[in-house]
Amino acid sequence: MDSLQALSYTTAVTGGLLLWVLEGVVPFFKGRKSRGRHAALNLSIASLNLLILLPAGVVMALILEQSKTAWLGVRTWELPVFLETILIVLLIDLWMYIWHRLNHEVDFLWRFHSVHHSDPSLDVTTAWRFHYVEIVFSELLRLPVFVLIGAEIQDVLLYSMLMTPVIEFHHSNVSISPSTDRFLRTVIPSPLMHRLHHSVVRAEHDSNYGSMLSFWDRILGSFKLKQDITGMTLGLDNESSPEQQRFGVLLARPFHN
Ligand SMILES: [Zn+2]
Ligand SMILES: [Zn+2]
Repeated sequence: MDSLQALSYTTAVTGGLLLWVLEGVVPFFKGRKSRGRHAALNLSIASLNLLILLPAGVVMALILEQSKTAWLGVRTWELPVFLETILIVLLIDLWMYIWHRLNHEVDFLWRFHSVHHSDPSLDVTTAWRFHYVEIVFSELLRLPVFVLIGAEIQDVLLYSMLMTPVIEFHHSNVSISPSTDRFLRTVIPSPLMHRLHHSVVRAEHDSNYGSMLSFWDRILGSFKLKQDITGMTLGLDNESSPEQQRFGVLLARPFHN
């Protein structure tokens, strides 16, 4: 395994475990019960995605390796390597913003993305709760985008290593001070921003689409903030019953909604 890939997995697992422990010690939404059962559900949905992501990563590495001599993308400009890398990482994050926004604006894509939003108890494990069809589309569409911008597999791995802990953190139920949140959201989508993205109210969850950097939302008009969200309902309307929050029901949900 590539060292960057190993570091990426290590960061994701360590960060996830650390946040899971902190959620038990300093939770933002208090009084959560059945954390173990909730995590088991989200991680079982996520485990299916690993079956897609691992082979997809191998195919992507092969295609990006083959295409890099045929199409240079931003490397046409022959910038210093570190500037090239920064530019490519920024463009990948912009694509993630666009893809996430499309998932909210295109009804067909929302069918699958809404499985992520149907979680009534947002926490670090929600960061991994995506319907496998959303993952398939995500992998298929990102490939031509990465070829177009001239990304190499090392750029994709670097982005993934930087972005994953941010996604885990902004989904987590860890309580941080308002001033820390304010400071963090100048750079990354903060927990306060992403909790609003999981509000049951559509006008609120159609906002704050950023993955790693918060400025896309600011410059593309989707930044939204509400200072007091302690009483906010998370999830989707009429989707939080134990019967609806079952593995098989959630996987089948997009096909008959
Ligand atoms: Zn969303
Ligand atoms: Zn989310």
